[in-house]
Amino acid sequence: MAVAPALHAQDQAKSEANTKPRPHVVVIGVNGMELDVIRPLLLKGEMPNLERVVNNGAYGKLRTVSAPNCPRVYSTIFTSTKPDEHGVTGFLVGGITANTNMLKEEPIWSVLSRNDVTVGMANVPATFPVMPVNGYMISGMLTRGKNCEDGVLCAPKLSEVEGGDAVYPRSMQPELLKNVGDFYIDCERMPGASDLKGHEKEVIDKWLDKVQLIRDEQTKLFDYLLTKHPTDFTMLGQSCEDRTGHWLYPIAPFNAGYNASINSVRVEAFPDQYIAFDKVLGSILKHVDENTYVIILSDHGIKPLREFENKDPHAHMDHEKTTPVIAKHDFADGDDVPGSFFAMGPGIKHDSRLMGFEASVYDITPTILHIYGIEQPKQMRGRVLTEIFENTDNKTAPSSSK
Ligand SMILES: [Zn+2]
Repeated sequence: MAVAPALHAQDQAKSEANTKPRPHVVVIGVNGMELDVIRPLLLKGEMPNLERVVNNGAYGKLRTVSAPNCPRVYSTIFTSTKPDEHGVTGFLVGGITANTNMLKEEPIWSVLSRNDVTVGMANVPATFPVMPVNGYMISGMLTRGKNCEDGVLCAPKLSEVEGGDAVYPRSMQPELLKNVGDFYIDCERMPGASDLKGHEKEVIDKWLDKVQLIRDEQTKLFDYLLTKHPTDFTMLGQSCEDRTGHWLYPIAPFNAGYNASINSVRVEAFPDQYIAFDKVLGSILKHVDENTYVIILSDHGIKPLREFENKDPHAHMDHEKTTPVIAKHDFADGDDVPGSFFAMGPGIKHDSRLMGFEASVYDITPTILHIYGIEQPKQMRGRVLTEIFENTDNKTAPSSSK
């Protein structure tokens, strides 16, 4: 495996890079973005920025892996290999919180870095501790820290990170603290059943306020990075949508786990997360010109619990054991909870829809490498999503140069 940094590219590659501008690609990962919830919001005009991407690009379901969860799927996206091959099979691997040292296959940031593409990543799940790249990396979900010692589904602040580096290069950390502030790296832990009991409304509202605070901080971070540290390839992550869906999905009284004192209080909370995400997207799109590729993806969807899943050994196992979870995504059949994929950019078809399960999480990295004209490493299992490009005969996607 070669996760080595490749920080010092060959002179030849450097001179080539100087003469030929590289394409810009911005990837925004939204944990568990659920098309069943997104589509009505698009129809109502409540996600105008995503609507712009849909109208000017290609979109569809994204086939995921079995029993999907963030570290398992993101590591599959990073490497285009199966969970058993890349090694990050879930939140815990051999009783230890999943971390980047477990990766057994080369991830996209390493392939791009050694091909002299500049890389910037922030708040992407399963990137802790950060790895050296030809640019910067700020970790996301599964970062360990104060009050979040196991690193699972909680929110250390940047200054509270423990057990590894959350920022590469290290010199960037004081710069971020000074210019962005001490932001939360991941979304907030869900409240436990005992905290909720008798105080449901106030606990829910307080939690939602914290979630929005975290999103505002991340928006400020992304804006700073895109302004002050532009890179050829940029990948940004959002995780509060999924966290909210697990316990505030707008379910009906007949659904498994319905509890009126929680589930009738803020029925708009989950759709509202996507409306809030759309504003984050709007802020990112301000940095995007017509020669930039924008890819928005989710690692899986999320659906209400189903009674028959109680017989499934995976049922009720995801996330915190203390929270009354009413929706989940780690169904044994990953096709029950497909992710989603949206792409726009030079040479990508407009208003084009991908049908069925053609596009999968394995295809993301090969498609991005294709945009940069980088040959797909042999171990990668995905394929280039040629059907999203106008000219499928064209082996190399149009460059960003004009
Ligand atoms: Zn989740």
